[in-house]
Amino acid sequence: MKTAICPGSFDPITNGHMDVIERAAGIFDRTIVVVMQNRRKSCLFSVEERMNMIRASTKHLYGVEVETSDKLLVDYCRDKGRAVIVRGLRAVSDFEHEFQMALANRHMNPEVDTMFFAASESHQYLSSSLIKEISSYGGDISTFVPPQILRDVLRRFESSTLQG
Ligand code: ADP
Repeated sequence: MKTAICPGSFDPITNGHMDVIERAAGIFDRTIVVVMQNRRKSCLFSVEERMNMIRASTKHLYGVEVETSDKLLVDYCRDKGRAVIVRGLRAVSDFEHEFQMALANRHMNPEVDTMFFAASESHQYLSSSLIKEISSYGGDISTFVPPQILRDVLRRFESSTLQG
């Protein structure tokens, strides 16, 4: 049984992430979406909140699980057995970083391979940062995030606006 590991920050999950997760779930028996705890990144949503938002957004998908890890990704994959890392590639800008990560991971653990899905045309420009930026100015993000989490994201920005 082959497992796909979809790692990321998911702060918050977007329709771009959903596109990659849905495509992975259509190919693999088991797809694990892993909220990676990155010490160098400060996130708007807590790990628990991000996991809950992913769970709510992927409930309809077969074989999708949500986990978190503070380990090096290759060590996490080693624990999962026969796993393939699945990442999404947006425009050229993602390529250099993703290529470097894939090579480094394969160097550290030759059994772990990385597969890339080219982002769908309609999601090329989508990122969690863009959504946070638009939302912080009260812009409409309803077409950018899964409907199941829209209220949670809006509520977070309403409360931060109230706090000044
Ligand atoms: P990270 O901090 O590891 O880049 P992200 O949450 O930003 O985590 O992204 C997780 C994965 O989702 C990455 O592989 C990223 O390239 C992919 N991704 C993010 N946005 C999109 C999008 N709009 N279309 C396709 N893939 C995307």
